Amino acid sequence: MSDIATRLEAVLERVRAAEADYGRTPGSVRVLAVSKRHPPEAIRAAHAAGQRAFGENYLQEGISKQEALAGLELEWHLIGGLQSNKTREAAERFDWVHTVDRSKLAHRLSEQRPAEMAPLNVCLQVNISEEPQKAGCLPAEAAELAAVVAGLPGLRLRGLMALPAPAETLAAQRVPLARLRALQARLRQAGHELDTLSMGMSADLEAAVAEGSSMVRIGTAIFGARD
Ligand SMILES: *Cc1c(COP(=O)(O)O)cnc(C)c1O
Repeated sequence: MSDIATRLEAVLERVRAAEADYGRTPGSVRVLAVSKRHPPEAIRAAHAAGQRAFGENYLQEGISKQEALAGLELEWHLIGGLQSNKTREAAERFDWVHTVDRSKLAHRLSEQRPAEMAPLNVCLQVNISEEPQKAGCLPAEAAELAAVVAGLPGLRLRGLMALPAPAETLAAQRVPLARLRALQARLRQAGHELDTLSMGMSADLEAAVAEGSSMVRIGTAIFGARD
């Protein structure tokens, strides 16, 4: 087995163990393999080991890998910040965008999503700890943004995404993740379906599964360190 296959299996084992530890339904947490700054060959190795969903932070880097891997059935997720003047490529080339944090982006992505494609799956990025200068809408703005996205024909509102500040202990990691889960519950009460909580990375995977994550975004633990 390749190193990547071995590490991917270890990550899947961590997810299964966390699902069992925290009473989650087996198989309810998906792994998104974050391949930023790793070459197409790394994605090919993960694909050979059964992985299908990949996350990229930078549009151009993601597109060049999509072109290099054109023959493979892959699901592409954009998880990095998106400038308003770059929405067309995101709308045309990706299956998911996790970083919608303002209505202008949502409107542009919907208008630019090609009619022959399924609606673009969208998560709202929430600045859950209300850190200054961090991307994401504020929790108090999420309901209004959810209503905008839900009303756009080119988009399908799937859930919420957060990138909390790193914390050392499991208990500390769980605090902002619990806030995102509570926000999801409020938006569900307001009538939004929201089947996705995109939260958890290599270092806080267990905390995220404990707090209801449905999609953990894992880079380092699968592909190794980035330079
Ligand atoms: C890089 C990145 C990840 C993966 O982080 P690791 O610590 O390498 O697992 C997840 N989400 C986002 C938004 C990222 O930028």
